Amino acid sequence: MDRATALTEAFLNTLSPADADLANLRQAVEEVARDVITVEKNDPDWAAARVLRRIVEPDRVISFGVTWTDDAGDVQVNRGWRVQASNAIGPYKGGLRFHPAVTLDDLRFLAFEQCFKNALTGLPLGGAKGGSDFDPSGRSDAEIMRFCQAFMRQLAPHIGPDKDVPAGDINVGAREIGYLFGAWRQMSGIYAGALTGKAPAYGGSEIRTEATGYGLIYFVQAMLARTGAAITGHRVAISGKGNVATHAARKAIDEGATVITLSDTSGTLYAPDGFDHAAIDWVVQRKAQGADLSDPPRHIAAQFCEGAQPWAQDADIALPCATQNEIDEKAAQALVDNGVQLLAEGANMPTTRDGLRVLRKARVTYAPGKAANAGGVAVSGLEMSQMSHRRFMSADEVDQALRTLMSDIHDRVATEGKGDGGIDYARGANLAGYRRLAQAITAQGVI
Ligand code: GLU
Repeated sequence: MDRATALTEAFLNTLSPADADLANLRQAVEEVARDVITVEKNDPDWAAARVLRRIVEPDRVISFGVTWTDDAGDVQVNRGWRVQASNAIGPYKGGLRFHPAVTLDDLRFLAFEQCFKNALTGLPLGGAKGGSDFDPSGRSDAEIMRFCQAFMRQLAPHIGPDKDVPAGDINVGAREIGYLFGAWRQMSGIYAGALTGKAPAYGGSEIRTEATGYGLIYFVQAMLARTGAAITGHRVAISGKGNVATHAARKAIDEGATVITLSDTSGTLYAPDGFDHAAIDWVVQRKAQGADLSDPPRHIAAQFCEGAQPWAQDADIALPCATQNEIDEKAAQALVDNGVQLLAEGANMPTTRDGLRVLRKARVTYAPGKAANAGGVAVSGLEMSQMSHRRFMSADEVDQALRTLMSDIHDRVATEGKGDGGIDYARGANLAGYRRLAQAITAQGVI
């Protein structure tokens, strides 16, 4: 057993027994620990401060009931959470996810990952995540509003522009942020940036909605540029049909790539000659209606492959943009067999441990979500400063700033990840994020 493996195993044994069953958290922590634990042990100050152990332990986990009334007049009960992981480098920051399958395990791993992602942006943003097991599908607009207001009644005491600034995540977009912000503003009596992802009409940033997807493509472009390549002409397979997937697809098309898939849990929409914007409009419309991707109209020149993942098509680049653990060993093998050379994560931790092993063995260039999808939270950071200054940037200015942020993140990660066999982006992201957190946590003492 090598030193890093032995130290990682010993480290995992120091975690709270109460977390033993949190499989996603352990997966995320193990991946980081493997890369950073020797660096921590080699630095007497960081080792003494027990930096990594302190990042794994969230500052607090807030759990609350959300009681609201549906359109039929029946009382509904859901559970809500906010995991405030670390505010060592800035106010707690991270999205809210509404999904019936959301568990505390998911939110713990996402909050842990967010600490590293936010550190990589170079902006003053701590790490957090939250959400609810509320299922928005099939709910009316009025029900979504009442749920968001009830959720905020419980969350409001714990957030604020210098304290904790939630944003969107799966199933929480501009509409939900609007209702959440309206409720917070009314309850607090303050007009300030306690949430990001707001519409530009009331203190939001241009390009925030597009930022994660656009940023993903900018990151891929930076990766390709290192080898003198461009995204133009590459075939790109994307999973998902939400905000990240569709905006990544749009930007990839605009930059000259051929986007061949989008997907949901019912199957994959496959366009051998590539999607155009009209086809993506149709996907967005179907999602808004709560419908799947079957039965595409003739003009979009795509076929629906029921029950299939997008990884069986011949692509050069894969962008998993749906959810965690969607690329297991089998999916990774399919990608490798189909000739994929680069995979960049638009979702958070979409690749399982076994999937990662397959990609590494086949020498697929791999960019972890904490670097590749950091564009969303980076523009959230810009939204926070625009709101504080009360001075807003144009869409072009934000887009340009996003390009620069992603290229800076790429360079930070590439510098840390440089090794004999080329660049290990996962290691680079873990190390670069860790170093910033370690400096901050150590400097501020044992608190
Ligand atoms: N939910 C997004 C993420 O996973 C954005 C978080 C934010 O803007 O605070 O990074």
